[in-house]
Amino acid sequence: MASRKVKPASVKSPKVVVVQPFVVKTSRIAGRGGFAARDIHTGERVAEYLGERVSHAVADARYDDHATAMHHTFLFAVTRQTVIDAAVDGNDTRFLNHSCDANCEAVIERSRVFIDAINDIRKGEELTYDYAYTRDGSETDEEEYTLYGCRCGTKKCRGTILAPLTPAELKKRAAAAKKRHHPRHAAARTAHEG
Ligand SMILES: [Zn+2]
Repeated sequence: MASRKVKPASVKSPKVVVVQPFVVKTSRIAGRGGFAARDIHTGERVAEYLGERVSHAVADARYDDHATAMHHTFLFAVTRQTVIDAAVDGNDTRFLNHSCDANCEAVIERSRVFIDAINDIRKGEELTYDYAYTRDGSETDEEEYTLYGCRCGTKKCRGTILAPLTPAELKKRAAAAKKRHHPRHAAARTAHEG
């Protein structure tokens, strides 16, 4: 039997999406995108990312980025245990595109994913958020800019929808690049061959 719960006055009412404030149309960034149907203010909750909740193992089994040379656009990693697959029972939120200079952000609250505006958005503007795809370490340098390449076209574009590299990852990558470009004894070897 359902029990009635009275909300204590001290609890701040959660942000809710009453009416979806965007429409889905063809986007210059990629495929389709979500466009503000009215002016939206900073801090407004514009959407909830819905879809089937599955484990990472199930999501990985469903989609193999490397094999299909396509990144799985409709997956959202919520926690270490859970991924939302918006290809199954998803809503229009799955059409929101990535941008490196986004006007919205994804917020995780009690393992639900919401999209909140981080700027004032004018009616007609495309809604975007930074996908910041989690890296599993299997991404190659090339894939970073091809398979996971970004075409947001903003001045702040980092070229990829993968999450920015951490300082430790950057250091590792720089060291690897140095090794590739300056193999030890390369000069000596060239001299002998010449
Ligand atoms: Zn970009």
